[in-house]
Amino acid sequence: MSVAENLEHKWHTRDFPTAAKDLLQNSQTRKNVQHATNVIQGKRNKVSAELPDWEDLREAGAQVKAHTLKHLDYYLTQFEENCTRAGGHVHWASDAAEANRIILSLVQAQQAKEVIKIKTMTSEEIGLNAHLEANGIAPIETDLAELIIQMGKDRPSHFVAPALHVNRQQVRAMFQREMHLPNLGDRPEDLAEAARNYLREKYLRIKVAISGANFLVADSGAVCLVESEGNGRMCLTLPDVLISIVGIEKVIPSYRDLEIYLQTLPRSATGERMNPYNSTWCGVTPGDGPQEFHVVLLDNGRSPILADKEARQTLQCIRCAACLNACPVYHQTGGHAYESVYAGPIGAILTPQLQSMEQGRSLPYASSLCGACYQVCPVKINIPEVLIHLRGKIVREDQATLAGKFSLWNIGMQAVAFLFKDSKRLEMAESLGQIGQKVLVSKNGFIEWMPGMLGGWTQTRDLKAIPKQSFRQWWAEEKSRD
Ligand code: SF4
Repeated sequence: MSVAENLEHKWHTRDFPTAAKDLLQNSQTRKNVQHATNVIQGKRNKVSAELPDWEDLREAGAQVKAHTLKHLDYYLTQFEENCTRAGGHVHWASDAAEANRIILSLVQAQQAKEVIKIKTMTSEEIGLNAHLEANGIAPIETDLAELIIQMGKDRPSHFVAPALHVNRQQVRAMFQREMHLPNLGDRPEDLAEAARNYLREKYLRIKVAISGANFLVADSGAVCLVESEGNGRMCLTLPDVLISIVGIEKVIPSYRDLEIYLQTLPRSATGERMNPYNSTWCGVTPGDGPQEFHVVLLDNGRSPILADKEARQTLQCIRCAACLNACPVYHQTGGHAYESVYAGPIGAILTPQLQSMEQGRSLPYASSLCGACYQVCPVKINIPEVLIHLRGKIVREDQATLAGKFSLWNIGMQAVAFLFKDSKRLEMAESLGQIGQKVLVSKNGFIEWMPGMLGGWTQTRDLKAIPKQSFRQWWAEEKSRD
């Protein structure tokens, strides 16, 4: 799919297999994605191996997050009190519509027609840009990758490197067209210089900025944002008004806890030992930075995840995207196949839950369950465990409907479950299978073709024929020889 076609394309319109099939045809995008993820993953492996206490940091990161989620009401209230005391305003938004309403009214109160933005996937999640544009306000992305996405009318495919699927030549063509720079070169410094010149005037002129945040610190009411380009620092310090939209799961108890995440997040996200820009701010300070500061705390489907004990760990995510870079499925398809703001393994568990399992139901199946995501996750989210939990949920929901109950798939699975419950039944089925497979087994002892829906398995792999003797029969024979 070209960038222009992507423009028309909204999230959640196709299931994963359909979208992935399309994207697998695009060899250029696949090449871009594979190259970029391999580079980031290589750097991540190198810098995480440098730390002798890497596994301890992962464990500590997981425990602090798990503890905070267990007492989320307490820490959010503490954050609100401290942020308000420091001169900030805290707003609570139960869903995307409410968050958009709050932010729009704050921008309108300034009579602003433009806002500058720091990359925030939470604003993508609520569709903030579209909402502002529909109300006559132009949102201007200042992160280089987000600017590329915005100019190309594209969609992010990776939440740390949203334009990872676009290469330098494509960016140059876009900047030449949109910034009216026909002689622009394609060296990284040429493109960075063009973006810098384009954005600097906006930083100095526009009075309202919108950001996300990586962490909210409960014991001080501080907000923390890490970034690599310095665009964030500009947006956090130059405008008169700053609005931060943040998911409720981003709160951590204290400043001391940042010590863990400021080591694991940059190493996992970009393979850097430290982010070039780490900003923390607390309310407002007269004469220094924005004089009006708002935090919009977003629920938007997070509370039900919190209530689900087996899936709660999903909310521990610090959005480093290491699981995307490690995932063999993401490597092949890229992020757009997930039809979601949150792609890759974390997207496969987060998106369907944020949507109350109404959309993204194919995503928990977009995984080989190889466990690579779990191995790299800096907060030890056991993604395969949650994937299986969600698959079970989907099956049970389907079985509760008449169509699901009588679907070929359900009948087949029920039959298999019936056989597996009793060894005698299983042996009988194996004996029958041995007779039935005679016409299917090829000379090499494998079944290469099967009829009907069973053919889905043999389409891409051979199936070993049922052996003449089962393991139990073999074992009984061995024992009788002793
Ligand atoms: S699930 Fe873990 S690895 Fe994936 S983005 Fe979240 S924190 Fe990073």
